[in-house]
Amino acid sequence: MNRFLQLALDLFDPPASPAAGPEAGPHPRPKAPPRARPDLQTSLGAAPVPSDAICPQDLAPAVPLDQVLAPASFAHPGANRHALLGGTRVAYEFKRARRRNIGFSVGPEGLTVSAPKWVPLYEVESALQSKSAWILRKLDEMRERAQRIETARIDWREGAVFPFLGEQVIVVLDPRQGSGCGILQADPNALPGVARHTLLLGLPQSATPAQVRDAVQAWLMRQATRVFTERLDHFAPLLGVRWKKLSLSSASTRWGTASADGAIRLNWRLIHFRMPVIDYVVAHELSHLRVMDHSPRFWDTVATVVPDYEALRGQLRDEALPPW
Ligand SMILES: [Zn+2]
Repeated sequence: MNRFLQLALDLFDPPASPAAGPEAGPHPRPKAPPRARPDLQTSLGAAPVPSDAICPQDLAPAVPLDQVLAPASFAHPGANRHALLGGTRVAYEFKRARRRNIGFSVGPEGLTVSAPKWVPLYEVESALQSKSAWILRKLDEMRERAQRIETARIDWREGAVFPFLGEQVIVVLDPRQGSGCGILQADPNALPGVARHTLLLGLPQSATPAQVRDAVQAWLMRQATRVFTERLDHFAPLLGVRWKKLSLSSASTRWGTASADGAIRLNWRLIHFRMPVIDYVVAHELSHLRVMDHSPRFWDTVATVVPDYEALRGQLRDEALPPW
């Protein structure tokens, strides 16, 4: 497969080692999500969204949710060992090979580790730990890349369907809406199994797939800000906490983070899920403003406002979201 890409790192070899995999070809970084446009209106009555709602810099003292909010794990289909790298579970394929050193390679299937017969497992483990940042970054890049390939296959034009709050929404291009507008309409008479909701996008029929995708994403991010803000305002008093600032993230391995100063980051893709799942993540993050770990006391706190959080957590993990 000519799209195959392998990123390899050999621990003890010089950089130009022939044991390293083929060099990664040039591939574009994921496109930065478009800023919410102030002129984008919605029939759901969105409040104006500040254009700086997406703040990539607000990362600092956040609590990582790696263990709690999937998908913070990677599994090679041929995995026979696993390691915990920076809180992320990585199941990898381990091979003994005729070689001088421990080799790591990250391919589309995941991480493969090969080591000479004489290297004991604890050395392999410690090499894994020392390279964990590189491994996690490559696994993340590989996952993002797979998603970008997937995105290319989505036909972003009139009739494209995407999930919004657990409902299917059909894209309709309607230049009469004015450029940049997005209006959600519901058809109560839709047949069973047919999407009841239509998003009228103010784009001409000649719009390119990239324009349609960006317009849908911009609309979804605006909705995310509106819905998340509303749910934060709903749960904060119930939990007796105050949140200060909401930022949207597009991290590929995290649904949300909370910092002690009250800043909350939520992944905008959560807006694909139905409301109870969003509520669980919002309540989870707000609960961290009371308990900054995942102790039983933390889960008791979550349960006071979302008693069925365990089932919702499972849905968050299992559902396949459309790639962006
Ligand atoms: Zn947490």
